[in-house]
Amino acid sequence: MKELSLFFLGGLLMIVSCYQQQETSETTKKNTQKVSAIFPKGNKGSDQFFTGNAYNYGLVMDTTLTTIAGNVYFEPGARSNWHTHPGGQILIITDGVGYHQIEGEPIQIINKGDAVTCPPNTRHWHGASHDVALQQLYIVPNIEKGVVDWMEAVTNEQYDQVLNK
Ligand code: MN
Repeated sequence: MKELSLFFLGGLLMIVSCYQQQETSETTKKNTQKVSAIFPKGNKGSDQFFTGNAYNYGLVMDTTLTTIAGNVYFEPGARSNWHTHPGGQILIITDGVGYHQIEGEPIQIINKGDAVTCPPNTRHWHGASHDVALQQLYIVPNIEKGVVDWMEAVTNEQYDQVLNK
């Protein structure tokens, strides 16, 4: 049961919902780029940790490797809350366009084929771009230290900072 509950935690990691309107969608031109999936879409979860719609599909939960991995599909405008991973995180982008921000640094635009890392216990968020969805694989190592610590939502003002470049 410990393994099951760990896996569930992994699922929670990237889960979702919430139908919050994005103010910027009216002012930005819609991009019709198609984003394709390698894995099943997965499950939409709680809106406590995400703004917009994101879907988690768990792939690996290994207590020997102390690592979880899975895929998250973020609809345009969707993103995680601010959070930290006690053991750090690797993201591998398999399609679409998204944003990744480590607190105190500019928003990083992430595209298909990119891989980005986040050090342990470092506040950050990630999600889709304003107009193009994102398919991202997450790898969370060292889960014996914990999987994720959730914090407050990323505001529209923070999310829209990427438009001011
Ligand atoms: Mn993360």
